[in-house]
Amino acid sequence: MSRTADAISLRLVEQYNFTHNGEWLNGGTCPRCSRNEAYARAEKPYVIFCSRSNKCGETTRARELFPDLFENYNKRYKPSRSNLTATADAYLSIERGFDPATIKG
Ligand SMILES: [Zn+2]
Repeated sequence: MSRTADAISLRLVEQYNFTHNGEWLNGGTCPRCSRNEAYARAEKPYVIFCSRSNKCGETTRARELFPDLFENYNKRYKPSRSNLTATADAYLSIERGFDPATIKG
């Protein structure tokens, strides 16, 4: 799990009342409708889903809620000799939910 994912999870638990439940974070407050029916993937909590599909059903990007956690990619994921694409990898995995290992080479 990336540090960004950890930081997002922590904030979802602290600020939106999410509860860890195996692979999921659930029971959180939906940022759109304020009901406690939002959930996210525990490992990749970059998108928060509302389970009220007919009445809300919105998806919210963690980036919108916690923009500070997504700042300064270049500083926080410095490319190194061992991983020249570190910044791009971080961007892809965070923004798009891709696992960089699967699209390499
Ligand atoms: Zn909602």
